[in-house]
Parts: sequence; structure tokens; C-alpha cells
Amino acid sequence: MTAGLFDLTGRRALLTGSSQGIGLALARGLAEAGAQVVLNGRDPAKLEAARAGLAASGLAAEVAAFDVTEAAAAEAALAEIEARLGPVDILVNNAGITRRMPALDVLPAVWHEILRTNLDGVFFVAQAAARRMTARGRGKIINIASVQSDLARPGTAPYATSKGGVRMLTRALCAEWAARGVQVNAIAPGYFATELTRPLVEDAEFTAWLARRTPAGRWGRVEELVGACVFLAAPASDFVNGQMLYVDGGMTAVV
Ligand code: NDP
Repeated sequence: MTAGLFDLTGRRALLTGSSQGIGLALARGLAEAGAQVVLNGRDPAKLEAARAGLAASGLAAEVAAFDVTEAAAAEAALAEIEARLGPVDILVNNAGITRRMPALDVLPAVWHEILRTNLDGVFFVAQAAARRMTARGRGKIINIASVQSDLARPGTAPYATSKGGVRMLTRALCAEWAARGVQVNAIAPGYFATELTRPLVEDAEFTAWLARRTPAGRWGRVEELVGACVFLAAPASDFVNGQMLYVDGGMTAVV
């Protein structure tokens, strides 16, 4: 009965922003579960290093460099990947950026850069993938949201706004695509040590606050996001739709 619930053999997954950090860890996890993974980012050299790192562990990966903020580039990339490799069954919308500063100092260019990457990019790539998934009647879209989809913190107005948008976009796309065989869900990570959070990891005061604020009492490790991603990519979640799964050491469960 349970055989195959978490098996991704024969599935193909595109992960945006997977040349490092969370995206790369998720790519490794999906590959270990049997999927063929396609790595994405803007920098071809970083992508090649990530591909080589997976290959060193015996995990094959393909690469597709494009900028998620460009709708036409996303559409061209999906067409190219499907022509070269075959159908994309799983999309992980992970590419994201932040700039931490007081709201009063946020210039229009910074606001737009963050919203374009974290929200427009999720929509454009989802749209390009879902054009094909809905036609086939099958697909899994996993958006990487954040605890900041719900909780704000000083210095994060554009980022928190973008991640709140990802939460509602996940629900809106579920509303339209669920009946056509596509599941659209989100993972909301708490605080994980990556390049994105390096200034916070190096801030002893922040780390002490985080340990007090998080029931688990520590930073997350990127591998700890893999289980949620495999679940949302696999047949086990076929009737789960429009949901946001928190992987946050308990942070959003407590005041
Ligand atoms: P990193 O900064 O380590 O990695 C970001 C990745 O996204 C890189 O591979 C980068 O490659 C790529 N990227 C950035 N902009 C674009 C773009 N326009 N088009 C394509 N690729 C792009 O970040 P994390 O791994 O920490 O974060 C990954 C996701 O997880 C983000 O959405 C983030 O908001 C979210 N998240 C992270 C948390 C954490 O604690 N780390 C907590 C909650 C959510 P390149 O620059 O070469 O394009």
C-alpha cells in the first residue's frame, strides 16, 4: 500500500535558484529520491560547480541558466528543457533574494528587485511549467515561502511582503490548477544558515535571539528541508493542495 508513495523514479524536477544553499540541498534530496534534477541560477560557473558537486556523489544533474524575473526567459527555458530532456513533472520555485534595511530607506529599485525575484519570478516560472503540466493533467509545484509569509521583523518589509504574496499565490494557483491534476503547495522554512542569512549567522546577538525564539533552540540545517520537499513532490501528497508546510523548529507555533 505504501510502496512508491515517496518514490520519484522517472520524474524530472526543475529547481530555480539551485546553484547553492537551500535549492541545491533540495536538488540533492530529490535526486536521491530518484528524480532527474535540473539546476537553475543566473551564473553558469556556479551552476557548473553545483553540478560537479552532485556528480562527485554519484548524482547526475542537468543545468538550465536563466533569470526567473524574465517571463520570456522562463517560457523559453521550459520549452528548451522539455525538448532536450522530456516533461518537467516537478517545479521547485526556490530562487529568492533579500536586502535588509529600514523601510524608510528602501529605494524603489530595491523594492522592485526583491518583488520581481521573489514574487514575479515564482509566478512566471509556475505559469510556464503549468502550461505544460495542465495539458498533461499532472504536475507538482512547490513554492519556497518563509516564516516571513506570516511574521514580520524590522528591516524586511519588501522581503516579508514578497513571501506573504507567495503564500496567497500558492492558494490562487491551487484554485485554478487543482482540477487539472496539478498540486501547488509551499514550504515555509524558518531560519537556515546559507549565503542569504550569512550576516545573521555571523551576528552573535541575532543567533542568541533566534535560539531563544525557536523551540528547537538552533538554526536549521538545509538537509532538514528535504523531507518536506520529497513529500510535496511525490504521490504521497496527491490530495494535498494549496497548503504551506512550516519547517521552522516550531518558531511559528509559539509567541
Ligand atoms: P541563497 O542566496 O544561498 O541562494 C539563492 C539562489 O537563487 C542562488 O542559487 C542564486 O544564484 C539564485 N537566484 C537569485 N536570483 C535569481 C534569479 N533572478 N534567477 C534565477 N536564480 C536566481 O539563498 P537560500 O538558499 O538561503 O534561499 C533560497 C530560498 O529560500 C529563497 O527563496 C529564500 O527566500 C528562501 N528562504 C530562505 C531561508 C533561510 O533561512 N536561508 C528562510 C526562509 C526562506 P545566482 O545568484 O547565480 O542567480
